[in-house]
Amino acid sequence: MKSTRGDESLIIVMAGNATPEDVAQVIERLESIGAEAHVSEGKHRTVIGAVGDRNAIQQLPWEAFSGVERAVPVLKPFKFVSRDFQVEDTVVDVGGVLVGGGNFAPIAGPCAVESRDQLFASAEAVAKAGATILRGDAFKPRTSPYSFQGLAEKGLELLAEARAEFGMPFVAEAVDPRDVELVSSYADLIRVGTRNMANFTLLSELGKQDKPVMLKRGLTATIEEWLNAAEYIYKEGNHDVIMCERGIRTFETSTRNTLDISAVPVVKELSHLPIIVDPSHSGGRRSLVPALTRTAVAAGADGFMVDVHPAPETALVDGPQAILPSEFADLMIQVQAMLAVMESFR
Ligand code: PEP
Ligand code: MN
Repeated sequence: MKSTRGDESLIIVMAGNATPEDVAQVIERLESIGAEAHVSEGKHRTVIGAVGDRNAIQQLPWEAFSGVERAVPVLKPFKFVSRDFQVEDTVVDVGGVLVGGGNFAPIAGPCAVESRDQLFASAEAVAKAGATILRGDAFKPRTSPYSFQGLAEKGLELLAEARAEFGMPFVAEAVDPRDVELVSSYADLIRVGTRNMANFTLLSELGKQDKPVMLKRGLTATIEEWLNAAEYIYKEGNHDVIMCERGIRTFETSTRNTLDISAVPVVKELSHLPIIVDPSHSGGRRSLVPALTRTAVAAGADGFMVDVHPAPETALVDGPQAILPSEFADLMIQVQAMLAVMESFR
């Protein structure tokens, strides 16, 4: 008999009021037929992925079990994050700012936190121009070990001060699984960088804490590999994941990376998770940021994230791609116009 292990599974969605006994009964029943039960206990509901012999699993009347809301067969290798499992868009709450399901998020700020003055100048300008989430990193994964690596906890403290001062939540990267607890204690949204997309230890740690996660696409990852990485986070119980397309490595050398804009509609077809675009790290040049951002809105992205620096020529990280605060204000006007066009298509 052909093994169906891992190819196809059934997802059993427990009702909001299901009891721990209801959950235990489903797990026991699955185990009794030799199937694996992958339990993901989210903030709002528990879902159980059943993997094993398809016929044995599907024969049982799961929807008749106490506390079970529905049972959904999923064909994709990624299960919980697939559209088959959840038809409605996931809306992620980032410190009170909603992302996804029609909620568009402009995210902006410096690539790295360098000083209070630099961070505050950038944060003040982007907040005034309409950004809803601040970006800024305290830990920087660098291509060269001799480049500036970030201010670590001091950087997170400054970001928390900027959040209080300008009233906007912030996103920061966690590079090492050992830093997850620290970053999670400050940030509203934790980012996984492109170089760490397949760091499964880091993904699992992020799945076990309760701050939402922004998952950047790996430089050489297919969309399927990227969604599987999101599954690692979701499976551990953290259902708040935002995908971020940031360009992939191709033969093209005129841009830092090639922005794969088709990833936006493809991810929307395959998954219920929100997806945003990073025009700064993909294009790698200031002059490309407006066109790539407008394209992201036109493709249906749920937001974008750009590097904004008050003096890019002095930036310790990624100066060439950072736009000035005044350029960000112009960009926001273009984004609003693009969003109005998109609205007219609904
Ligand atoms: C970043 O957003 O600052 C960053 C390091 O991006 P990436 O991981 O996509 O290179
Ligand atoms: Mn950067």
